[in-house]
Amino acid sequence: MDLLKELEGCRTILITGHIRPDGDCIGSVMGTYLYLKNALKDAVIVPMIEKPASEFDFITDIADIRGDFQTDISRFDAFIGLDSSSSDRYGDALRFFDDAGKRIIIDHHISNDGFGDVSVVDPKASSTCELLFGLFEERFIDINVAEALYVGVIHDTGVLRYSNVTPETLVVTSKLISYGFDYPRIIDETFYEKTRIQNEMLGRALVESILFMDGKCIVSKIDRETMEFYGATPHDLEGIVNQLKYTKGVEVAIFMYELDDQSYKVSLRSGGNVDVAKIAKFYNGGGHVRAAGFTMSGSFHDVVNNLSDSIAMQLEGA
Ligand code: AMP
Ligand code: MN
Ligand code: MN
Repeated sequence: MDLLKELEGCRTILITGHIRPDGDCIGSVMGTYLYLKNALKDAVIVPMIEKPASEFDFITDIADIRGDFQTDISRFDAFIGLDSSSSDRYGDALRFFDDAGKRIIIDHHISNDGFGDVSVVDPKASSTCELLFGLFEERFIDINVAEALYVGVIHDTGVLRYSNVTPETLVVTSKLISYGFDYPRIIDETFYEKTRIQNEMLGRALVESILFMDGKCIVSKIDRETMEFYGATPHDLEGIVNQLKYTKGVEVAIFMYELDDQSYKVSLRSGGNVDVAKIAKFYNGGGHVRAAGFTMSGSFHDVVNNLSDSIAMQLEGA
């Protein structure tokens, strides 16, 4: 896809990503925003996602994000949806989807069936940011664009450690860091550094986790009471599921936190023998083979029982 060609004649452009934005979502929205500002001088471009966590404040012009989802524009010539496998992931930005002149979808989730007027979905790309770098014209990429895209690559690959890293990921990363931003600082401050609350939540989740299916599965949960007691937000729980997965012998890790009474946000991580995207899709969620998520109602035990069956079926078939 030639992104700039697709946007020819578009005077108003909305850029959005998914609810509870992660590093790849924030990086891809900001990278695209900064790139299009360089390339299209006359267009009005609106980046719109929930307000990113404060550790991302260093990204140039991040304050331009309309975290309140408000804008004077009622209809956009182009709607660019990033890092989201289905339109229900856009949160309040979804109200601009149907009326938009053109819907452009750029994503790397295997569960994305390409629901735009123009869609680029590449499940082999480590991150939406990696995919975007290949779509951007070099002459409009500057250090600020490169820095934003780098954030997404780093976050979705666990700092270039996960199996979604390909030779292409490293080529792209190498080109990105050649722009000269302070990448060790980005890694430390946005990926490894944790607040006291985040460490407390991680500690509790690890201590209270339960192994089952002969140690092949691990599950842990944080309920609303605990979150309220510590003053923790969903953002403070990111990364816990990955740490659970690092338990030796574990094939599938499940981490869930209570959104509402009897409603859980569920995160799944797999070593590769179990396709968790398949399981997540069954419960109206999505993701990748080794990392997926969904929202489910029911008690903790309902969720675990349902998931155990799905996981056992795949493990037995393996
Ligand atoms: P998480 O467990 O939230 O870190 O998400 C793991 C992967 O699954 C990410 O790529 C998410 O975009 C995707 N994902 C998580 N929750 C959902 C959901 N409710 N619907 C679709 N995809 C999801
Ligand atoms: Mn994401
Ligand atoms: Mn992503």
